[in-house]
Amino acid sequence: IARVALDLPLPGLFDYLAGDASETDVGRLVRVPFGRSEKTALLVELVSQSEVPRERLKPLASVLRELPPLPADWQALCQFASRYYHHPYGQVVALALPPLLRRGRLPRRKPAGGQGPVPTPPPPLTGEQRDAVAAIAAARGFAVFLLHGVTGSGKTEVYLHAIEAVLADGGQALMLVPEIALTPQLTARVQARFPDRRLVAAHSGVAEAARAHAFVAAWLGEADIVLGTRLAVFMPLPRLALIVIDEEHDPSFKQQDGLRYSARDLAIWRASSRGIAVVLGSATPALESYHHALAGRYHLLPLRQRAVAQTLPTVRLIDTRRQTLQDGCSIELLQAIEQRLMRGEQSLIFLNRRGYAPVLACPACGWISRCRRCAANLVVHLADRRLRCHHCGFEVYIPRACPDCGNVDIHPFGRGTQRLEQNLASRFPEARILRIDRDSANTPARWQALLAAIHEGAADLLIGTQMLAKGHDFPRLTLVGVLSADAALYAADFRAPERLFAQLMQVGGRSGRHDLPGEVLIQTEVPEHPLYQALQTHDYERHAALLLEERRSAGFPPYSHQALLRAEAPAIEQALGFLSSARALAEPLADEVTLYDAVPMRMVRLMNLERAQLLIEARRRPPLQSFLTRWLPMLATIATPRALRWHIDVDPLEL
Ligand code: ADP
Ligand code: ZN
Ligand code: ZN
Repeated sequence: IARVALDLPLPGLFDYLAGDASETDVGRLVRVPFGRSEKTALLVELVSQSEVPRERLKPLASVLRELPPLPADWQALCQFASRYYHHPYGQVVALALPPLLRRGRLPRRKPAGGQGPVPTPPPPLTGEQRDAVAAIAAARGFAVFLLHGVTGSGKTEVYLHAIEAVLADGGQALMLVPEIALTPQLTARVQARFPDRRLVAAHSGVAEAARAHAFVAAWLGEADIVLGTRLAVFMPLPRLALIVIDEEHDPSFKQQDGLRYSARDLAIWRASSRGIAVVLGSATPALESYHHALAGRYHLLPLRQRAVAQTLPTVRLIDTRRQTLQDGCSIELLQAIEQRLMRGEQSLIFLNRRGYAPVLACPACGWISRCRRCAANLVVHLADRRLRCHHCGFEVYIPRACPDCGNVDIHPFGRGTQRLEQNLASRFPEARILRIDRDSANTPARWQALLAAIHEGAADLLIGTQMLAKGHDFPRLTLVGVLSADAALYAADFRAPERLFAQLMQVGGRSGRHDLPGEVLIQTEVPEHPLYQALQTHDYERHAALLLEERRSAGFPPYSHQALLRAEAPAIEQALGFLSSARALAEPLADEVTLYDAVPMRMVRLMNLERAQLLIEARRRPPLQSFLTRWLPMLATIATPRALRWHIDVDPLEL
């Protein structure tokens, strides 16, 4: 009897008659009859008994013997993810496989090669870089390194040297980067360093066939380097010898639907199970990672100096309470832009709000543009004359008059990137302005074209959201202006300040990376806030210590571990009712575990469903895990309305 993992929202394995499948096929992909069609499954084990009567078992349709069994450590990784995130094993396997294989099709093999660009010789390392590379090379067995390097300190150079060392020993390297940072520039840079090695890219922008190729090449050990986003943590790599996670603090490493995994945490587990090194790099490490480093569990490798530039940018705080802004900009900022234009240098204005204005409002009756499906405002997009919901995509034409009172004098309120672009264009008519946000860079090709234009110096003034904050190295960029960042200081999510600090450090770090000195101007109404003070002195350590102390006294992660049960239903009472029943079932089991009350989510309605959540917290992971293991299966016994959906999020990033 063959026991297989199937892509179904059900726990456990499924039994089939094994036919000619033998022990050597365990770990292979198989096709099995399911309903009226076939599905791909993973052959997990062969057993002699089944709880299902033999006459009701169907035979396996076929075994995909063209490919070897999936490596044992790959299966172990998927099993761990299934256990830890309480998600069916078959669904974890399905997520980890490229769609083509999932449908039981094999990519046509094509010989590799032909890429071989001219190798670029590495620059001589700085002293700090050399120390970091030496420490990583000296690691024996499992070790986690936290490469804490200021922006422009040359972390990538350290990764490349560490990768070079494992490749020379016949190993494979896996490098994970945040979603937005994976550009052809980075791929080209890595490939150029290792012209004879086969590098494959793995992210959502890779076409299906190429994705399957990459997966198979990694699996067969033909690819030496895998460069990808969070999903690449599931690449099978039989000779894996090093994992690098660049910008390890980035929220995009946590998947927000289905299997809600953290690629960083899975990568660390994977490294530990294989007994290899993992390098986490960041200018602003996640507090969780930094906490481990302070406790001595991770090895801290500091890079305090920039590699090329002599200094970090000067950060100035502009108190906007003391002046009238012009189109949202202070006099100081406008003058600084003007200077850069005269000197032929680039400026970047960071405004993390796309669209023309966040809302359309009627001053006569108080009407504001609300989404009919979500508890959110409709954003004004003037370019295509639409009001659009950034949460569900709902859109309507901008009305000529107030839908409630007929007043024709309705206005956009506030400022998004489109409006700022328009304002700055009329103020600096000679400047070449580029706006970079998810509207202007809405396809990979347009995003690439925008990046290329910036690199070629075809833009003087960049207006951008967080898309531009990470990883890019624009040599002539010397000014960064930050607008409207204060709101995040007061957000309800306890991680909001950590995120804001990282974001502003990142975006500020885009300036003055080469021989021209950089400057960062932050407009704020609370210049005395410790977060801004720490930015001004580039003091991550002190700020992190402050935030960690706040977390400790509030009992938040990393001083506790959390899981979140979320429910959504047409009416909030239904969602809350389900969570209250779940809580009642939990009470007798809750040993060393704190159960909070079920509450509506902050954005309560999304796409016509109302949402609520129940927070569970524990000082230590093991009691939380054993609680979840006992509790979650009981939730199926709760009678619920048909339309109710629920899921569990272990180590949630957003509360
Ligand atoms: P980070 O990722 O730490 O912000 P990068 O790796 O992008 O920094 O490096 C910043 C710049 O410094 C890049 O242009 C890189 O090529 C250059 N660089 C890095 N290390 C050195 C070095 N040892 N000597 C000269 N240039 C270097
Ligand atoms: Zn009105
Ligand atoms: Zn909506």
